[in-house]
Amino acid sequence: MKVLVADDDYVSRLVAKAAVEQSGHECIVAADGDAAWELFQLHRPEVVVTDLKMPGLDGLALCRAIRATEKNSYTYLVLVTSHGSQDDVLAGLEAGADDYVTKPLDPFTLHTRLLVALRVTSLHTDLARYRTALAEQARRDPLTKLHNRLKLSEDIERLQNSSERYGQDYSVALCDVDNFKSYNDLYGHPAGDAALQAVADTLASHARTSDGVYRYGGEEFLLVLHNQTMSGARMAVERARAAVQAMGILHSGRPLGVLTLSAGISAYSSGHRASTEQLLKEADVALYAAKAAGRNTVAEAETASADLHR
Ligand code: GH3
Ligand code: MG
Ligand code: MG
Repeated sequence: MKVLVADDDYVSRLVAKAAVEQSGHECIVAADGDAAWELFQLHRPEVVVTDLKMPGLDGLALCRAIRATEKNSYTYLVLVTSHGSQDDVLAGLEAGADDYVTKPLDPFTLHTRLLVALRVTSLHTDLARYRTALAEQARRDPLTKLHNRLKLSEDIERLQNSSERYGQDYSVALCDVDNFKSYNDLYGHPAGDAALQAVADTLASHARTSDGVYRYGGEEFLLVLHNQTMSGARMAVERARAAVQAMGILHSGRPLGVLTLSAGISAYSSGHRASTEQLLKEADVALYAAKAAGRNTVAEAETASADLHR
């Protein structure tokens, strides 16, 4: 572990540093609170052993400042009090300290505190790792490994905000596999799952890195195309549609004999400052039109006349 020792008393500092190093840890020292704060930000030590009374930032202010910066990390804070005054100890724990030791500092006592610190900080590291993994898992669809609706809602809100602020275009395309119920009926549900995975892979491999590909529902996918006008989006979605057809997954219930999809596109632009909900609704209406036009088709949302009459 990396341990920061903050103490304005030279001898106390030396004793603490020797004890930390004898315990097998790396030690950084600071002669006052302000220096400790700077070194903390620079080195992000796992443990801080800080004197209570120091010129500049005192031990309590240092504890509070450290706690305020923590997001996914945890720093184990040990306060060093002069007389072990109960008021000082309580104030320290309220300011965020995990533990306290009294002066004069006893190397063995500090050694035992560092053993506890190691256990607590590794638990926090594990916790942060699990939290990150869980947050990622909650945003993925397990079948297709694409991002799911939760991630979509977060991403699209951010995109909508920046589009409103900077006037950037973007488009969304709602894609739906054609006659998929009959695919399941003909080939079985496991084959249906495999087909959805293949469609997902094809959509993902045809997207630009800045674009988003999400599993929107059962056999529905949503493409979010950044900085794309309707005509640009149309070309991209048309390529994706053709790529799905070109996979040649047999579907005897379709006219071409292969699995296909249909898509409806809507676009946000300076001339059509629609809300996200509105865009999704428009894409859904366009998808319905693509289905009505015979499927394996890409259709654009009709918004121009609606905007003119606003
Ligand atoms: P359309 O061309 O109008 O979209 O017809 P469709 O048959 O695709 O539409 P419908 O909404 O009637 O059927 C969708 C089917 O997708 C029904 C459902 O069982 C299937 N489905 C949804 N999610 C999954 C899944 O995860 N795995 C499998 N195998 N099938 C799924
Ligand atoms: Mg559907
Ligand atoms: Mg369908």
